[in-house]
Amino acid sequence: MTINRKQVFLLISCVLNIIGIWIALGIQIKYDYQQTKSASELNVYNLSRAFEEHAYAKVREIDRLIQNLRSEFNESFDDFLKERHILEKIGYDDIDLRVYAVNRLGLLTYRDNEKFAGTTDLSDREYFRTLRNSRSDSLYISSPEMDITSNEQVIHFARKLFLKDGSFGGVLIIAVPATHFSDFFQSVDIGPKGAITLFGLNRSILAQEFGYTTKGNTSKKSIADDHPFFLNKQQSGVFSSKNDIDRVSRLSAFRKLQDYPLVVQVGFAEEDIYKPLNSRRNSIVIIGTIVTAALCGALGILLVFERKQQALSDKIVRREEQLQETLAELEILVTTDPLSGLPNRRSFFSRAQAEFIRAARYSRPLSLVMVDVDHFKEVNDRFGHLIGDAALRHISEKMKLCVREADMIARYGGEEFVIILPETDSEGAGFIAERVRKEIETAVFSIDPHDNIRLTVSLGIACMNFGNEYSDLDKLLQSADDAMYCAKKNGRNCVSYSPDFANMESQISSDRL
Ligand code: GH3
Ligand code: MG
Ligand code: MG
Repeated sequence: MTINRKQVFLLISCVLNIIGIWIALGIQIKYDYQQTKSASELNVYNLSRAFEEHAYAKVREIDRLIQNLRSEFNESFDDFLKERHILEKIGYDDIDLRVYAVNRLGLLTYRDNEKFAGTTDLSDREYFRTLRNSRSDSLYISSPEMDITSNEQVIHFARKLFLKDGSFGGVLIIAVPATHFSDFFQSVDIGPKGAITLFGLNRSILAQEFGYTTKGNTSKKSIADDHPFFLNKQQSGVFSSKNDIDRVSRLSAFRKLQDYPLVVQVGFAEEDIYKPLNSRRNSIVIIGTIVTAALCGALGILLVFERKQQALSDKIVRREEQLQETLAELEILVTTDPLSGLPNRRSFFSRAQAEFIRAARYSRPLSLVMVDVDHFKEVNDRFGHLIGDAALRHISEKMKLCVREADMIARYGGEEFVIILPETDSEGAGFIAERVRKEIETAVFSIDPHDNIRLTVSLGIACMNFGNEYSDLDKLLQSADDAMYCAKKNGRNCVSYSPDFANMESQISSDRL
């Protein structure tokens, strides 16, 4: 199967169209993704800001409570108890706070709603050890821990107590249920797989909420060391990562809380962000596929149509070639003598007429030689017509050897031939006629290995040396015929000039005299 240039062009343009369409669709999909990503980055950043403010307000409030209780504690234990009682009555944000006090030795000196003997040793607790060893008066915030009394996760907020001389006097602690933070997180829509985390600078997770869970998860997990916050020490930032806990890829924003060693992080699951885009991308891909299929279909139809057209035009070309061949054959049939293969009488007249006109117009020489086979009837009578035909073909071949390419030998009729000699005067014509005569006379025509037939011809020449001796072709031809009869009369197998020629010669001679 061959492909022509038009089909290649169709194929290439279709392929280019398809590539162009897919590039455009690809760019559109990429643009959609970039737009969505930028919008989501802005959203997640704003949300992290809101959560940071919220967490900051909560922690500051708890810190303020501790500091109030501590100043009362430093005044007198009774004042502290009063303040604690007031606080209990007023309530704090609907949550169940628990207050503890530990003396400088780490022994529990106060616990809400509990008579105690002052023997519970809490000196090994993280908050106690940290604050005792700390030089500054900062708020300690613990990781979520299991509270044995309430059997729920709590976060301990603690500050140092001071003795009168300003030395370390123990620790005042408020335990806040971890859900105090995560419940608020739940109230905000962060998408089905989003996540909000409050974590400490020590990488412990204080509260965490996932879009797909209903209850806060504050188990003892920590943030990985390679978290962007730890890497670049930025105050806030946006990044993409896979969560260590649930293995979900999220676009997240983090913000560090002012004054407190806490960080808030909000993450939108990339799955949630790009979900609407995926269906749009699928629609684009479907449209692209339909357009591609339509283009391929159109190409197929065009190619089939093109092939049919090609086959049709090939057929027309073939027909035309056949017609040309037939015309050429016809031309040969019309102009050629079938027996000898020489030009026939019709060809002779058309060429002779043209040569006569040219010679007359330009005053150029032109000669005709009439050739007649001698006693040919006898050949037929003795050897039959088939041998006669072969003899005519033999004579034709031999005559062809004697003339130039510009000359023409035609079969004039029966056993008569005529030779047109353009640009040939009487002398040249005599020379060629004699050559023909000799060639036929000497050429052997054998009918079998032991028998040869002797063939001779008589030739009559009529010529125009100046192109003006005859008024028309018929007269020139008649003159050649007359000359040929002269040759017959002169005994055959010889060449004769026409009687006119002798007259003309004598005329020219007398003119010269
Ligand atoms: P002459 O020397 O006077 O020309 O004698 P001739 O016998 O050649 O002359 P004539 O005109 O009496 O006879 C010509 C013969 O040529 C008669 C005819 O049978 C024969 N002839 C003409 N055309 C053909 C042909 O195509 N094939 C064959 N075999 N014979 C042909
Ligand atoms: Mg004859
Ligand atoms: Mg003859």
